[in-house]
Amino acid sequence: MIGTAIVGGGLAGLALAAELAGEGQDVVLFEARERLGGRIRTETDAQTGLALDLGAAWHWPDQPLLRALAARLGLETVAQHDEGGALLLNDAEAGPEPAGTAPVHGGALRLRDGMGAMIAALAGRLGAERLRLGHVLVSVSDTGDHVRLHFADGTEAQARRAVLALPPRLAAQTVAFAPQIDLAPFAAMQTWMASTAKTAMAVPRAPWREAGLSGNSQAGHERAVLGETFDLGLPGGTAPGAIGGFFALDAGTRAAFSAGLPMLVASQMAQLFGAELAAAEPLIADWAAEPFTCAAADLSDPALRRSAPPAALRRALWQGRLYFAGSETAQRDPGHMEGALESAERVLRQLGRPPGALSLGAEPGLAGFAGWLEAREEGAFGSYRHHLNQRLARQQPAMATRYAALDSVEEVLGEALSVFAALRFAPGELGADGGRAETVRRAGGMAKSFLSRHMGGILAFNRSSCALRNFPEEHELPADYVQAILADVSRAGGGFLAELDGLLAARAAAH
Ligand SMILES: Cc1cc2nc3c(=O)[nH]c(=O)nc-3n(C[C@H](O)[C@H](O)[C@H](O)COP(=O)(O)OP(=O)(O)OC[C@H]3O[C@@H](n4cnc5c(N)ncnc54)[C@H](O)[C@@H]3O)c2cc1C
Repeated sequence: MIGTAIVGGGLAGLALAAELAGEGQDVVLFEARERLGGRIRTETDAQTGLALDLGAAWHWPDQPLLRALAARLGLETVAQHDEGGALLLNDAEAGPEPAGTAPVHGGALRLRDGMGAMIAALAGRLGAERLRLGHVLVSVSDTGDHVRLHFADGTEAQARRAVLALPPRLAAQTVAFAPQIDLAPFAAMQTWMASTAKTAMAVPRAPWREAGLSGNSQAGHERAVLGETFDLGLPGGTAPGAIGGFFALDAGTRAAFSAGLPMLVASQMAQLFGAELAAAEPLIADWAAEPFTCAAADLSDPALRRSAPPAALRRALWQGRLYFAGSETAQRDPGHMEGALESAERVLRQLGRPPGALSLGAEPGLAGFAGWLEAREEGAFGSYRHHLNQRLARQQPAMATRYAALDSVEEVLGEALSVFAALRFAPGELGADGGRAETVRRAGGMAKSFLSRHMGGILAFNRSSCALRNFPEEHELPADYVQAILADVSRAGGGFLAELDGLLAARAAAH
């Protein structure tokens, strides 16, 4: 008999399974497909090495669980390229028109190695021995003591409890429950993006970036194949490049013309960004054609919406032997990956864990923070160099070191807050009677020594950099310039501590 059977190896089920496995619990993850990830699927382009996300790609700065998990798993995040001119394609014959330079992605972030890197890291923590691929759940029944799970290949499993982490609509349409449960609220919940299709392609160079374009475009004419496009490359530089898009064609039309879609995609990309894109080979993921993502009801209900799910989707049933997880059950950010993690954390709470339990082996409290800071050091320095190169490439050398240092510091401190939000603290470490002040003081000490090592690395790098010889002020930083940078960094550190104090006060109040 299994302790906890989890069905569905998307981000929600996998994060939950990895957390329980990390606690040493008896957990087995059953997944219908022959791969993990669900609506996360990343392909690596053989020529350029670029990771192309054909499902979920973006997360945002205000999504603490996703950010903390990426940081904890040591996965590097990059900013979504959003700079330059956008295009509008409203007339199939006339070609694109400029549509301004306003960013459209709201500060979105991606993982340098694609979201698949997060899935691979979680799968590594779960361990192959706890994983059953190719297991399509068809029914689940309660014996009054445990649950029985039946799979399409005729196999059966028994577990103390089961967590179904598949889209609620699929659960309602494809799984039989005994005793019967009220499936109406499950069937009503649209699976976010299930009826869509996405394309991505890597190219040796990004002609749109060379032309000062962002890669963002929208198409409004009737014959458009793609409704929108966006850059999928890495920050900085114009080679190699990658571009992606969402289809404007509906699922039926896509199915009817599937063989011709790559050519149609390449042709619209060429019309937007230059003839050389006509020869590129787009990858296409049509999620509407995937039975373990898209339910029949999602096809007849194609207007996309992310709505707050009813509480019925979050209830424990069968005296605590049946639970539902998955992004569409989340209270916060349903439909998004952040919602998938929030749902995993909610199930952990239902199983008796404290808030913030989705820690994936992170050491609790300040020890966890110290470990995270240490692991983040190299990435912070890489981020400084990236921001510096960007400023120099854009011919903005004035105070390039100062801005790049501050950008890299603010990035790390922003992530540090997310990491703190997800750490576990003993009540004494957060108490108003001095515990919280002491925690903030010690965290401040750790952040200060990190910042001082970071600044030391920056000054040493600048002094030895050949590229910076052409910019004497940045190469051998004068004392007053160094003072100004240190003052900026210290202000950022002060702001971090104030925010940290507020965050810990909120955590203490929630305990
Ligand atoms: C094209 C596209 C783009 C997106 N872009 C973004 C984005 O940029 N940012 C963002 O935050 N979100 C985005 N999303 C949404 C995001 O992918 C989801 O919120 C998230 O991946 C959901 O994770 P999940 O684990 O809840 O569900 P899923 O990923 O759907 O996982 C469910 C799992 O259950 C399995 N399963 C289904 N039926 C059965 C069965 N009967 N038996 C066993 N297993 C079963 C499936 O195979 C799947 O692995 C996008 C989605 C798509 C399709």
